[in-house]
Amino acid sequence: MTVKVTARGAERWKQGHPWIYRSDVAEEPDKKPGIVQAFDRKGKFLGQALYSPTSEIRLRLLSRGNERIDDFWWSHRILVAARRRNGITATAWRVVHAEGDALPSLVIDKYGPFVVAQLLSAGLESVRRDVLEAIKYALEPEGILLRNDSAVRRHEGLAAEVVLAHGQVPQVVEIVEDGVKYLAAPWSGQKTGAFLDQRENRILIGHQTKTGGRALDLFTYHGSFALHLARNAKEVLAVDQSAEALARGAENAKLNGINNIKWTEANAFDLLRELERRREQFDTIVLDPPAFAKTKANLERAVAGYKEINLRAMKVLAPGGVLFTSSCSYHVSRDVFTAMLSDAARDSGRRMELVAVRGASADHPELLNVPETGYLKGVLLRAVG
Ligand code: SAH
Repeated sequence: MTVKVTARGAERWKQGHPWIYRSDVAEEPDKKPGIVQAFDRKGKFLGQALYSPTSEIRLRLLSRGNERIDDFWWSHRILVAARRRNGITATAWRVVHAEGDALPSLVIDKYGPFVVAQLLSAGLESVRRDVLEAIKYALEPEGILLRNDSAVRRHEGLAAEVVLAHGQVPQVVEIVEDGVKYLAAPWSGQKTGAFLDQRENRILIGHQTKTGGRALDLFTYHGSFALHLARNAKEVLAVDQSAEALARGAENAKLNGINNIKWTEANAFDLLRELERRREQFDTIVLDPPAFAKTKANLERAVAGYKEINLRAMKVLAPGGVLFTSSCSYHVSRDVFTAMLSDAARDSGRRMELVAVRGASADHPELLNVPETGYLKGVLLRAVG
């Protein structure tokens, strides 16, 4: 099957972005999802791509060559991605970060001997069998779970589903991360079962946590930051509005024999206000909220929300205390996020040192040419005054 693309479409590929939008596809004779050969209007071959007939993102570049794209091809790309991650000591990590690994719309995460994958485009879905064979060959997992329940599948005309595609995958998998154990939930947890993207940041702030100090982990979910803080801190206040999430956090603490975490059900905004009123102080604070800006339209309100929690967190930081603050809103750029933090620092009356600017863990590669591969921002700050 072949498609023709406009000069503007071809230019995007040249600039290193794998997507060509609907408006830049000039001819698409057969509206069937699959792998297509793409040409420019003059008939020059440009490459092979995944084709999604109903999506705004019509084409996702796979290769500039005309080699056969079969299960061997997929397994080779997966193996290259896996090899790049040699040296990760945690037992859960991302093997394939879609566009970031030249495997557009494919996410593969490893949880111990199990694989959780996401097929996020109609084009990719049409070669599901090859991709599954490739995962089996490249990674030899005991089971493959397809967490195809991400909302982006709707734009592709695909149904949401969670299906076991191979072997068996348990409800919970015990993960070890820098000596901290936690339970991932491949079938029902957020994303593919855990927030793997914050792994290196959890380790960073864990090691920065003041020995014998007080720590605060807001939006704790299953406590994955709190567990790292608890190894050094005397006590950790772990806060979430979901009692169910906190119960899972408490289970994780038990698994580690940790008993210095206070699990607190509260709205983080209200609690911060209360802590500030009571003039409480913390040596270590983590802010890892859900995406406040789900769309571009509510960017302003989202930034105001980020500013409010960061400003209040700065106010309850003990002198010399550290704050790790993050945003997973794609629409909040790194520039906007750091400008918001500068704003909050000025209003807080504290002097804040910028210690480190971070992104997602290295197994979630971010390509400058493909801004969509980077959504997570993290900044480590220290109160110097
Ligand atoms: N820090 C976690 C991920 C946080 S996910 C980790 O690394 O694993 C976001 C969490 O914020 C969810 O558990 C959700 O229940 C919680 N949440 C969302 N809004 C909240 C609010 N206003 N107050 C407290 N918790 C909130």
